[in-house]
Amino acid sequence: MKVPSYILISLFSLVILVAIISISSFPEKYFNLDTIGSTSKKIQAMSKRGENKKTIKIFIDAGHNSRTTGGFGPIGAEHTLNYEVALHLAQRLAKDKRFEYEISRDVSNYSTNILAFGISNKQILNSIITTKVAGEKRSNPLSSKQYLDMYSMRHYAIDNNFDFFISIHFDTVDKKYYKKVQGFQVIVSPYNRKFDESFEMAETISKRFTEFYPVSRGTRHDKKLPESIWKKYDKNTLHLKGISLRSLIVIGDVFEYTYFNDRYSSNKGFIETIEDIPSVLLETGYLHESKFTNEATLKDVANRLYLSMCDVLL
Ligand SMILES: [Zn+2]
Repeated sequence: MKVPSYILISLFSLVILVAIISISSFPEKYFNLDTIGSTSKKIQAMSKRGENKKTIKIFIDAGHNSRTTGGFGPIGAEHTLNYEVALHLAQRLAKDKRFEYEISRDVSNYSTNILAFGISNKQILNSIITTKVAGEKRSNPLSSKQYLDMYSMRHYAIDNNFDFFISIHFDTVDKKYYKKVQGFQVIVSPYNRKFDESFEMAETISKRFTEFYPVSRGTRHDKKLPESIWKKYDKNTLHLKGISLRSLIVIGDVFEYTYFNDRYSSNKGFIETIEDIPSVLLETGYLHESKFTNEATLKDVANRLYLSMCDVLL
């Protein structure tokens, strides 16, 4: 059968047309794919290096202030040493762009941010302060202003999405124990709603510190803690690591925990979503340990805290 020439011409034209369309559209398509591909590869590479991660926000509490003072010992006042370590830590963090930080106070008083937060949230903070818990007593009665400042600091850090809260302290002991007692301890609270993260940080700090500092024999836990804690943790192991479990205002206490539980108990499930911040309180050493009069030692303490944060948070 002879195919009419007009059909052959039409078919030939169609093949040419398809070829032209393919050739002209192919390069464009190709470049688009290439661009998309290379961008996603770039994002992957960046996230591996951590370049597109958000900065880690550290809240540094230089324990006490010149009015509340904290302890005193042969090497000086606690609030002064706490502040010196806090400044060294701030200086270390400032050199690393992956971190941001804020310090609770200057030499003498809490920062204006914290004081302003306390004023604008006075009602809720006072409700926490006045919360009663059966069988629990506030161990160290403070003035209502001191309570307000301490809860303000903790909730300021929570509300402003800080990633980690470190409270720096030094310990004291009766003179007759000076020769026997020295070393650090790390305190975490089972009433902190980010207890697991807090505990991981406490273990890391303990590991970094035991390379150079003795573990304090003064670790002790609150007598009344949730029973579930002792199913998970062994007292002897905690003692060897220098970790104490305690209810304390700045890292989360039983009064605040109860306040939020009561407030939201009518709305089951919501309690899990109450915000919190992984928090650790460090008792760096004792105020009779002369090594802490040395600037280099305080710098080393700060550096070990910085390294612990790198270990856990980056
Ligand atoms: Zn203290």
